[in-house]
Amino acid sequence: MPDKALSFSLADFFFNDSPDVLTPPSDYLSWIQHPKIQAAMQFFGQQFVTAPRAEAEVLDTSGGRRKVINMTSYNYLGLSSHPEVIQAAKEALEVYGLGASGAPLLSGTFDLHVEFARRLAEFKQKEDCLLYSSGLGGNLGAMQGLLRKGDILIMDERCHKSLIDGGTLSGAKMLFFNHNDMKSLEAMLEKSKGKRVLVAVEGVYSMDGDLARLPEVVDLAEQYKAATYIDEAHSTLMFGPNGRGVAEHFGVEEKIGVSFGTLSKSFGGVGGFVCSNAAIINYLKGYSSPWNFSCAPSPAIVAGLMKALEIATRDSTLRDKLWANTAYLKKGLLDLKLNLGGSQSQVIPIIIGASGEMLMQFAADIQKRGLFLQPVDFPAVPADARRFRISVSSQFTKELMDEALNIIEDVIAKGLHD
Ligand code: PMP
Repeated sequence: MPDKALSFSLADFFFNDSPDVLTPPSDYLSWIQHPKIQAAMQFFGQQFVTAPRAEAEVLDTSGGRRKVINMTSYNYLGLSSHPEVIQAAKEALEVYGLGASGAPLLSGTFDLHVEFARRLAEFKQKEDCLLYSSGLGGNLGAMQGLLRKGDILIMDERCHKSLIDGGTLSGAKMLFFNHNDMKSLEAMLEKSKGKRVLVAVEGVYSMDGDLARLPEVVDLAEQYKAATYIDEAHSTLMFGPNGRGVAEHFGVEEKIGVSFGTLSKSFGGVGGFVCSNAAIINYLKGYSSPWNFSCAPSPAIVAGLMKALEIATRDSTLRDKLWANTAYLKKGLLDLKLNLGGSQSQVIPIIIGASGEMLMQFAADIQKRGLFLQPVDFPAVPADARRFRISVSSQFTKELMDEALNIIEDVIAKGLHD
């Protein structure tokens, strides 16, 4: 493999021409073993030995513990280790044990699941809700359950892989409109006339931190009689006057057909949920494999999540802190003349550009200085917009943010501008 190893990515090794399915492609094997790729890979899958708080610890290569300022976890509101959440989960663990030990229709439904789904539906102002064991499973299962061959799924080109995979599984035809481009969306709606159409967008786009142009999306969908689906993975509990998400922020909740959320980010746990009208939720139960052919979420996790919902919605303290931290960090980063793309949220990309080499060198240098910030490389993002991505948390203190900004200035800003 030539020294250009970093100019290749996983996108180059999808097709496997080896004679047997259990052997990866030969050029993949030489690529993955290349010292530069091995060096890049060391950033991924590092082991946390504490909760994913702003001040966390990870294992270093010699097996010791390393203190880090963690700006990568999706623990946006710090709820994963909130004392009340832990207490609620502990109490449920004592009563219900570790797992649900069954799929929801057979033996996996507990009173906690029913109550939490009811509260989520009420929170999202929809009639009913289905709980999934993962966010990915929720998107996959909703798409697979709602769409059929002959239907059209129109998605923003930056939608998450779980929506795309769900679309593939459903057999519907998938069309991708240019990111947040309403002309492009309208062109696709126009050519889909006469079909059953679902338009899917995200509230906050996960790699860019910008918002869907939701008022225009719902208007267009209404005009063309298409249904709408919003993935609020990165916006639930954070956006809107009551934290209900970007749909609430824009005042268009009643125009959204299906509202999806994940329980692994601001909620601090794991799982996914899909809210809609009662009839379609009931129908979905029969056709959504990640729901009806998979074990229900752990009751202890559900108890913790229920407490997380209560804490995040009883007042706006956590949200206010999150937005104050986001404004502080953004100002600091902009003062360093860094390119934050079009971020309008707590997801803040620092766009480095086309050089994979530079990205990995910066990653090594910031991590050496104790800042845990992960590089995001192609194909997860466009090849000319490799980046770091900050996930702001309400747990960040001014001291931690100042320390992180110092490191980012010394390594990234100086590296890019000198
Ligand atoms: N949707 C979006 C927009 C996401 O970013 C993610 C995860 N990063 C998911 C769905 C899947 O959620 P989970 O990780 O909880 O399975």
